[in-house]
Amino acid sequence: MKREKTFQVFLGSLAIGGRSSVSVESMGRVYPGRVDECLNEICAAAAAGSDCFRIAVPDEGALSGIIQLKKHSPLPLVADIHFSPIIALKAVEAGIDGIRVNPGTWKNRLQYQQLIERMKARNGVLRLGANTGSLPSHLQKKGRVEALLDSIIEMIEIPQKNDFHRIILSAKSTDINETIEIYERLADAFSYPLHVGLTEAGEGFEGIIKSTIALSTILQKGIGNNIRVSLTSPNPVLESQVAVQILQGVGLRQKGIEVISCPTCARTRGDVVSFVREIKEAVQMISSPFPIKLAIMGCEVNGPGEAKEADLGLAFGKSTALLFVQGKVVKTMHQQDALSELVKQLQLMVSNPMVK
Ligand code: SF4
Repeated sequence: MKREKTFQVFLGSLAIGGRSSVSVESMGRVYPGRVDECLNEICAAAAAGSDCFRIAVPDEGALSGIIQLKKHSPLPLVADIHFSPIIALKAVEAGIDGIRVNPGTWKNRLQYQQLIERMKARNGVLRLGANTGSLPSHLQKKGRVEALLDSIIEMIEIPQKNDFHRIILSAKSTDINETIEIYERLADAFSYPLHVGLTEAGEGFEGIIKSTIALSTILQKGIGNNIRVSLTSPNPVLESQVAVQILQGVGLRQKGIEVISCPTCARTRGDVVSFVREIKEAVQMISSPFPIKLAIMGCEVNGPGEAKEADLGLAFGKSTALLFVQGKVVKTMHQQDALSELVKQLQLMVSNPMVK
């Protein structure tokens, strides 16, 4: 897939834009002052595939937590700060990797200028993130896409005048078509990396489907360098998993284990549904630095053909299971032994890429 060319910026150690892979951001639910809980969220998001993590910093009391989180977080951190440039300046001094600034909630240009100067001195990244829910009041009479774009154009002037270019842009709408249009226009107008998301996508399958349509369409146009799926859920694990699935689905995740499985039918030879659930749980504990495709198929009709195409495959037979490695049958076993054997083969593949 041909990707739009952008500058590259480093959010901590994470490269975003340029030739780097499209990365995943997720966002905390917990107040950052509750450091241990917040750290648990970050670690869970990292295990689910997130590459960076955003934290809302609603007041000055949260800043002591930011200092602690910065010391222990396995992921680069972005502070999401509205209405208070003072808190943003303090978060930069606390060593945060990036600050998300919403054009709709920043009024004071002088303090914005000060923020840019401090970020320039401390190698921070500015994410200018507009949102249809908080458009600047003077732009609200315009169409939403125009207003999003204009709000970015107005706010990008000060960093550019200060020769500050560690910038990531985003402009999110709740509407799928608006979101696609605004990202096309951002990609045409700017060469900064784009953080892509559909805002307030909702809960459960509704949110997942809307996010998948919007993000995969934008990504398939070659646009986007970092993504977030915004789901109503109690923690950031599901949104991280969905974002990873979207990237795997459009062929942009060059690491991790992808499980494909048949829908099952009257020919199914065994409890494929339970097996797939169990293997997906087991796979979460195995991190692969390269992509591995694992196929679970319910019978010997389409099973062997599909399983052969994957790096590792399993096709169920009558109380047995055929194991394929790189398209070759390597073992026939009892179905009850298949889970442990598959996990063993995956671990072998991850520790020895030559097998793959
Ligand atoms: Fe049915 Fe076999 Fe296809 Fe699975 S692979 S849906 S069991 S025909």
